[in-house]
Amino acid sequence: MMTNEQLAELIFKDVTTTLDDLERRYPKRTLKQGAEVTRFAPSPTGFLHTGSLFTALICKKVASQTGGIFYLRLEDTDTKREIQGSKFELLNQLSIFGVTPSEGFLGDREVGEYGPYVQSKRADIYKVAIKHLISIGKAYPCFCSQEELNEIRANQEAHKIMPGYYGQFAKYRFLNNDERAKLIQEGKPFVIRFKSSGSHLHKIKVKDLIRGEFEIAQNDQDIVIYKSDGLPTYHFAHVVDDHFMRTTTVIRGEEWIASLPIHVELFDALGWEAPNYAHLPVIMKLDENNHKRKLSKRLDKEAAVSYFLEDGYPPKSLIMYLMTIANSNFEEWIFAKHFKDMDEFEFSFSKVSLEGALFDIGKLNFFSKEILALLSKEQITDMIKDYASKYDDKLLSLINRDPNYFMNIMNIEREKENPRKDYYRFKDIYDSILFFYDDKYEEITNNNPLQFNPKFDKVVIIDILKDLKDNLPYDNVDESTWFIALKDTAFKHSFAPNNKTYKQDMDKYLGVVADVAEMLRISITTRKQSPNLFYCLQVIGKERIDKRIDYVINYLQK
Ligand code: GLU
Repeated sequence: MMTNEQLAELIFKDVTTTLDDLERRYPKRTLKQGAEVTRFAPSPTGFLHTGSLFTALICKKVASQTGGIFYLRLEDTDTKREIQGSKFELLNQLSIFGVTPSEGFLGDREVGEYGPYVQSKRADIYKVAIKHLISIGKAYPCFCSQEELNEIRANQEAHKIMPGYYGQFAKYRFLNNDERAKLIQEGKPFVIRFKSSGSHLHKIKVKDLIRGEFEIAQNDQDIVIYKSDGLPTYHFAHVVDDHFMRTTTVIRGEEWIASLPIHVELFDALGWEAPNYAHLPVIMKLDENNHKRKLSKRLDKEAAVSYFLEDGYPPKSLIMYLMTIANSNFEEWIFAKHFKDMDEFEFSFSKVSLEGALFDIGKLNFFSKEILALLSKEQITDMIKDYASKYDDKLLSLINRDPNYFMNIMNIEREKENPRKDYYRFKDIYDSILFFYDDKYEEITNNNPLQFNPKFDKVVIIDILKDLKDNLPYDNVDESTWFIALKDTAFKHSFAPNNKTYKQDMDKYLGVVADVAEMLRISITTRKQSPNLFYCLQVIGKERIDKRIDYVINYLQK
């Protein structure tokens, strides 16, 4: 009878490398005590998911705060699902968010001694491990056709038995090696399956850095480890790669917890120590009915990181926001640091909340406002230009009319102790600054009637505007001098200097100074709310203000 070694030799005659050779080729890393080796292992099957960015962020953080290594491995064994170009896009997006790996597949090159870092280029390595498993009787060729698999499943369903290819149902587990060799020599197609020795009726203890130790049913499935295309499945590739790339901590989404018993059994069968595992909570959102559900690629625009880039969120705000989902103590910490830099924050697995991973766009917007408010006028102008050149042609052409003028607009109430926090994404900038441009100002006023307070007679408004035009100082004044002049003009037209005075003598006054400021604001900015009026006027300048006032007077007289 053919031995297991002979069967292994028959299937993989070309494989002469041994596991020992691989141990020597990929020696243990020499890193300082406590340094963690983490990896981000995306499949090139589409866009970068927000949940994947979350995982990559934690991988990078853990590696950097322990003086370890963060590398990228491309998991492309599912060749049918690969989307051309997505591997480069993934790397590009990681770099935009500052989550770049220092080792592994980096797009145009590979860096590091533990490669290749692209799974489809590692077929020879997997074969060594599979040959070994066959030779020790822990793996076997399976010749099951699709029809046979369907039959097994139908039978299990009919008898309400747990589905799968395991135990007595693992039909080809029971062939002897001579029978296997015969079928192989006849050219019958096959895959290689792992021969599990577990039972789903038994529980094993597994450890997770976030959840601690817990019990889970043992694996008993004879999973496919080697497909007919010569590549391994995810489970097998994960075990081999994380062993030989010397990963210390596998950080991945919690959807992989269910597969942990398979991975633990594979590590054991190969005689290797398993790495630590941390399964991050899946990011959820509240739907319209206030029910929690997973962020969905299909339903939620915020599931793809490209959405945040296209809408012009500063990448840092999404990253900081994701860190609040990771560790609840981060929010207080970053507040205390005034949103400046999170490098010194100490991430901890024990503080990952399993319930708290709810995506809250309101909080992200808030973070974003804080971060944008901190930028200098040059920084924000550069970021907006970069955004506009990629995503917003209209905004770009507005900026290009006069970049300095645009920078002055962006500088309104910036670079001061309490900067204004009105933008959270660049997508909104175009509409909000249109009124600063004369042709756009006219377009707006032609299309939308100016919303003056109907309480005040047109004649009163016209009179006040004329007076403001003639008497309000604009050049070389500070805000308080300007405001005193505004108050004086208001008073002249029977508007009280404040609410208290107005309420005390409502017969005497038509309104308050704020009403007069609103008349001016609407006339110059077309809206009831705008950035600080004094600064808007400074940016627009006396000559154009006069023109706008004349224009509005004319408009009101029609
Ligand atoms: N390629 C797997 C995925 O994209 C990676 C899972 C892991 O990190 O091990 O989900």
